[in-house]
Amino acid sequence: MAEVVVLGSGTSSGVPTLGFDYEATFLAEPKNWRTRPSILIVGPTGRLLVDCAPEMRLQLLRERVTDVESVLVTHGHADHIMGMDDLRGFCLRTGRPMPVYAYPDTQEDIRRVFPYGFAAGRPGLLLPRFDLRDVPEIFEAGGLTVRTFPLIHGTMPVVGLRVGDFAYLTDVSEIPEPSWKHLGGLDTLVLDAVRYRPHPNHFHLARALEVAGLIGARATYLTHLSHDFDHHATESTLPDGVRLAYDGLRIPL
Ligand SMILES: [Zn+2]
Repeated sequence: MAEVVVLGSGTSSGVPTLGFDYEATFLAEPKNWRTRPSILIVGPTGRLLVDCAPEMRLQLLRERVTDVESVLVTHGHADHIMGMDDLRGFCLRTGRPMPVYAYPDTQEDIRRVFPYGFAAGRPGLLLPRFDLRDVPEIFEAGGLTVRTFPLIHGTMPVVGLRVGDFAYLTDVSEIPEPSWKHLGGLDTLVLDAVRYRPHPNHFHLARALEVAGLIGARATYLTHLSHDFDHHATESTLPDGVRLAYDGLRIPL
């Protein structure tokens, strides 16, 4: 069955965040433990990983994932690329470089952070290998058709994507006008909502709810969540059809 697995639903620092104290009741709720943002799109013939969070290895072990066909990196911020080193396991399994779709600026970030993913390897060394590819408007992954379109994240472009009637909009502060046409008739939307206060690079909760209303998906899950949000307390305040994402959430495609 085709489905989306939310691997991580947390903001860039993860939740709980280092350096803060939390109420025991907050820590006792498993859905308040959020790893960095990433999803896995599971198709009939393979899996597309969207972003490589610092916890990527643990996320994929948790979900019992032993192979990934290709990777889409939405942008080059640390919380979206720092897990890429662990793609080495999949390169070893297939004997091929991992196809990684990314915008040109993100490709530069990846080359800067992981130069050894492109260097000629010495025999016996287990290194990741990345096959960087430009982001097509439409491509096939895992037997599914993926549509991409740009979003704005502060000042940088970020890849938004749609598969069937599902769309994923992480790290967004503005949806460019031409991208709106890809957001009609959605069954499920996963949308950035980082915190209560406005943020220069992200939708905050009030803005995310406005945008969710404009898009009008049957169900909207908010993601990239900070510790502002206690899962159950926050969900009880949300409008019908809007929920908080959590690590391990599964959405049928
Ligand atoms: Zn970001």
